[in-house]
Amino acid sequence: MPLQLRVITAERVVLEETGVDEVLAPGMLGELGILPMHAALVTTLAPGELRVSRAGQEMSLSVAGGFLEVKDDRVTVLADAAERAEEIDVARAAAARRRAEAALASRRGEVDLAATEAALRRAVLRLRVAERVRRRRGGGLPPTTGTD
Ligand code: ATP
Repeated sequence: MPLQLRVITAERVVLEETGVDEVLAPGMLGELGILPMHAALVTTLAPGELRVSRAGQEMSLSVAGGFLEVKDDRVTVLADAAERAEEIDVARAAAARRRAEAALASRRGEVDLAATEAALRRAVLRLRVAERVRRRRGGGLPPTTGTD
């Protein structure tokens, strides 16, 4: 039996899928692979990419850390923040990256180093996840609008 996956944050349901063949999640000690019939599990997630295989297709999400639970072929991710690749605002992530880089470069003594580095990691991650999906669609062109 395939997996059922829910990715939620405090604010919204980010993804709800049935018929999932495999979930690859950013565990604290590296990538965590979940196939059907996985043992029950609760674990923390690091900021990273969550990949979902379903019917030969792969979906990708950016996850800013959180928790993952597996139970009876149901996988629940409770994330601090999460976006499906196609809903990532690339310009916003690029601006966040520039802000964090500028803060780290110019005012090292005054900035909250850990928070700024975490913001930089989130921005770079979002850019990576968004970029990966654009490449998969081919040509690096943005998706056409108004056709679906
Ligand atoms: P920013 O500085 O651009 O707000 P951030 O890293 O501080 O970025 P978060 O605190 O991680 O943002 O997330 C706040 C909310 O904004 C979450 O709901 C998150 O999903 C959403 N979000 C953040 N960046 C993006 C983005 N580039 N595209 C789409 N949604 C985003």
